Amino acid sequence: MKIIMLVDMDYFFAACEELRHPEYREMPLVVGADPKGGTARGVVSTCNYVARKLGIHSAMPISMAYRLKKDAIFLPVDYPYYESMSSKVMELVKSFSKRFEQVSIDEAFVDVTDKVDNFEQAVEYAKALKEDIKNKIGLPCSIGISSSRLMAKMACEAGKPDGVRLIKGEDAARFLSPLPVEKLYGIGKKTAEKLESMGFKTVGQLAKANTVSLVSNFGVFGAELYRSANGQGDDGIIENYEIKSIGRERTFESDTTDRGRIVAQIKSIADEVYEEAKKQGVSFKTVTVKIRYHDFSEHLRSRNIGHYSEELAEISENAVQLFDMHAEKDERVRKIGVRVSGLEKRKGQKKMKDFTAP
Ligand SMILES: [Mg+2]
Repeated sequence: MKIIMLVDMDYFFAACEELRHPEYREMPLVVGADPKGGTARGVVSTCNYVARKLGIHSAMPISMAYRLKKDAIFLPVDYPYYESMSSKVMELVKSFSKRFEQVSIDEAFVDVTDKVDNFEQAVEYAKALKEDIKNKIGLPCSIGISSSRLMAKMACEAGKPDGVRLIKGEDAARFLSPLPVEKLYGIGKKTAEKLESMGFKTVGQLAKANTVSLVSNFGVFGAELYRSANGQGDDGIIENYEIKSIGRERTFESDTTDRGRIVAQIKSIADEVYEEAKKQGVSFKTVTVKIRYHDFSEHLRSRNIGHYSEELAEISENAVQLFDMHAEKDERVRKIGVRVSGLEKRKGQKKMKDFTAP
């Protein structure tokens, strides 16, 4: 069994701003669009805990945040600065384990199986890493520990803010069971709505679902939903992230909410990624979509497709589905990216079309 940690920075953009503006630390601090006296159309990207206590949260319209607290500190998104802080954090995380996979600007999975003997030691290891990030960089984070990526993520969410939380494999089902389905990692708003309409309100109910009906409603993703609801998740870490993936991204000339335009772009990028994978002679196991919104907030969503593939359709269909499931409605998209990872040198023409649900 593996021991997987998820390191996730707390209120990252706002924490970075607090670091260079300690004078704002006790004040409500909102990073995002310029509120323009409450008339602006943008959203809150991140805010600190003082602002959260006032009811402000990320993705909230900036005009609403302004109404809640006119004299809050409103700062624009300074992506290059957050990226430089992110690479400092990631370097430090890497020094704790090279089995490391960055999944967004402020999150990384780390496999510490060969660094510790058991979960209790993993908790101590996580605390040491957390302290190191706090002392050397000055930023708070939370760390979740479990035996899969899914449960490490769930543990991390439960430990926020500023916490270390362990969920052992045998406790996964009990932990997940009472949660509403939308709290399960990987389930977006649309999927949650569909599940609820099918009568699945809690993760526990979903865990007892008929897999055939899940697969007929959601395709391969249905099988993944079932495994997730039962606390079973992938424990693979894609090491050397940059090297072992092939990705392309493109910025729109003007920010857009037009699904047709975005989907066309995803398909065209998928095509380029496919050509590159073919050129390098690799098949892939994971498809990732990166969505950067107009306020520079960025979402990465990945799907492990369950087998090595070398087909264009697997890239474009999964990428479009990930976009449809996870994109924030009505948020203008600035940039879109598609990536394949979990790469393997191609071995002949092995194709797995006979996928069966568990
Ligand atoms: Mg975070």
